[in-house]
Amino acid sequence: MSQPASPDHLVRDKIYINGRWVPSQGSGTLTVVDSNTGQPMGTVPKGSAADVNAAVDAARAAFDGWSQTPLVERAAYVTKLAEGLQKRSAELATLMAREVGTPAHIAARMQVGMPLGHLASFLKATEEFHFTETIGNTRVVREPVGVVAAITPWNFPLNQVVVKVAPALLVGCTVVLKPSEVAPFNAFVLTDVIEEIGLPPGVFNLVCGEGPDVGEALVKHPEVDCVSFTGSTRAGKRIAELAAGAVKRVRLELGGKSASVVLPSADFAAAIPASVGSCYTNSGQTCAAYTRLLVPRARLAEAVALAKQTAEGFKVGNAFDKTSRLGPLISQVQLDRVRNLIARGIESGAELVTGGAEPPDGLGGGFFVKPTVFVVNDPTSVLAQEEVFGPVLSIIPYDEEADAVRIANNTPYGLSGAVWAGTDDEALRVASRIRTGGVQINGGAFNLAAPFGGYKQSGIGRENGRFGLEDFLETKSLHLRVAA
Ligand code: NAD
Repeated sequence: MSQPASPDHLVRDKIYINGRWVPSQGSGTLTVVDSNTGQPMGTVPKGSAADVNAAVDAARAAFDGWSQTPLVERAAYVTKLAEGLQKRSAELATLMAREVGTPAHIAARMQVGMPLGHLASFLKATEEFHFTETIGNTRVVREPVGVVAAITPWNFPLNQVVVKVAPALLVGCTVVLKPSEVAPFNAFVLTDVIEEIGLPPGVFNLVCGEGPDVGEALVKHPEVDCVSFTGSTRAGKRIAELAAGAVKRVRLELGGKSASVVLPSADFAAAIPASVGSCYTNSGQTCAAYTRLLVPRARLAEAVALAKQTAEGFKVGNAFDKTSRLGPLISQVQLDRVRNLIARGIESGAELVTGGAEPPDGLGGGFFVKPTVFVVNDPTSVLAQEEVFGPVLSIIPYDEEADAVRIANNTPYGLSGAVWAGTDDEALRVASRIRTGGVQINGGAFNLAAPFGGYKQSGIGRENGRFGLEDFLETKSLHLRVAA
């Protein structure tokens, strides 16, 4: 895949409501920027609350019919959605290499392959799901929660859309999607596919715009039953407040500051490079990345040397250069934020091992940052506490195992993490004390069918596989007469 010689300027000037592409009732457009060049790559409509009203009305009107549609028919639509996305996978990878900056060869697997994997996993989970069970004389049925507002971020934009839209549709909900305004084009491609497969009108609707106006209008709309949000903890708190007035169901997938805990018995040669690799996934713009590496103080020098060597092996470059392992950050806002946090880290006394706030050589235009490693002695300082969302690893030394657990748990977040030890049993013992929604044990593979989500301020609810279906279900008890 090569960077288009003169990249097309993409214009999407309609939103999708009630089975048709229609003009937005908002005024103006939002410019989307190519993260590799810093230049505009296209525009989408700057939507309004009026768009939200039309979309929610359509979703509400479609709900009765869709929720009563046999499960096998709903699953057949989702199967066709997967097939349609598969056909457009090369285009989607190119789009997200430009919108997000993920190197195209990695985007094909991570930004397109992963959502396709999730679709297969949801279809399998649906086949195996028990929508009905019996407790004494009661038939307990699981029913769709209703109209779902799906609000999604820019870092894994298609994936975050799919892990909401697919399970919601499968269990019988109707959906209004508001994708990130920073990386929206992939959601328009998904909507093209939804149109092609002939999903009934109103079952899926796409609005577009910024969080404080279109996003909040959606959250506040009285006919929205459930808000499924992925994004920053800041916006998640605001959404939870707004939704509380009507006791709406709220599912939140928020930020993280996850720790990779390396115990003295661990294989450092495996643990340290894997932890650096996790931290740098998608140029560090990954909610579940292990951005803190906790190592025994007695072996700090060894860990630092391994981390430095691994970090310096990550070639920064244009997303269409096959040798790039770190693409640009997504935006100027993100670049400024990451550079500012690196500078604040240095001011706070963190020791810079490699990288830093200066731009990498020879990469003008785009939002590039050097792979950066710090030693952070104070676990309460800025780099040990704040979600950086860039390729910045903080190595934090600890003395005793109990300190490692305390430091790992000492942030407001609780999304993911890792434990490395000589045996899985030892790692599992420590993992049981870590307050996060997931812990990788000695490099165990990520499982798309397993629940994903956060403890503490990393969120409420679980996505993926069977647990992802549960998030969009209500529970009803039907009390039957007992036969005489
Ligand atoms: P963001 O919170 O700025 O925006 C996310 C979405 O919410 C966008 O569509 C935005 O328009 C909308 N939004 C913003 N403010 C809103 C408001 N007041 N009301 C309604 N909608 C609003 O987040 P981002 O910068 O797009 O994404 C990065 C963040 O997402 C990071 O903190 C990251 O950790 C988190 N994230 C979490 C997960 C997870 O599964 N836990 C996955 C990916 C990203």
